Amino acid sequence: MGVIICPIHGRQFFWEMCEHLWEEFENNNLPVMEELSGYATKICIDCYKRNNVENFQKLTSHEYLKLPDEEYLKLEKILGPIYDNLDRRCKCIECIKFVQLNDARKDNKKLPFEPFDNTLMHKDNIEIEELREILIDYFKIRKLKESDLDTSDFFHIKSGGISYPFSIKIFNVIESDKQKEIIKLIDSFFEGISQQQRKISFFEAEYSLYEMGGKKLRLKQDEILIFEKIIK
Ligand SMILES: [Zn+2]
Ligand SMILES: [Zn+2]
Repeated sequence: MGVIICPIHGRQFFWEMCEHLWEEFENNNLPVMEELSGYATKICIDCYKRNNVENFQKLTSHEYLKLPDEEYLKLEKILGPIYDNLDRRCKCIECIKFVQLNDARKDNKKLPFEPFDNTLMHKDNIEIEELREILIDYFKIRKLKESDLDTSDFFHIKSGGISYPFSIKIFNVIESDKQKEIIKLIDSFFEGISQQQRKISFFEAEYSLYEMGGKKLRLKQDEILIFEKIIK
């Protein structure tokens, strides 16, 4: 499994699949998926049958790698060309989940995961950057006091997906009145935002100092959750 940059969800894992499955997902249809034995590649029923994949023992890519050379070479002679001849595409995992979620909602089925589809995602970069600026402004005073700190030492922002919320991590703000102040600041930003789902967490973090080419680098070693607020 590799990583792609999805225009909607940003950095994500992906599934490799045949063009037919990809097309179905593009049209928001949840297709029946099979797998090409030995490869993690998802294939449609037609590709599965046309290539006689059903005749092969189902092997994960991990099991495939572990086969003794003799067995592997025999299988690879048949599976390799099938794989090469597929018109393969990549689909972001969160985009797949979006289709799975809609499919479950349509048929009133049990949802496959707790949905966070009303959250700020990579595509909402303008709003996310606005919030980042607000937080940078807030932490500027603390940065002046502790001049070796970078703004990234105070907070981290991660855009959301379909299966997890937009999240803001705040580091080393221990005083409860300061925590309340920050939550208020973030809440008031969200008054103007339609995607309300979010997670705000406060952590105590430990850092180690490194010297690199005359520059000091602080790297986070550990974080302990103090408390978090999730708006669903
Ligand atoms: Zn296919
Ligand atoms: Zn995506």
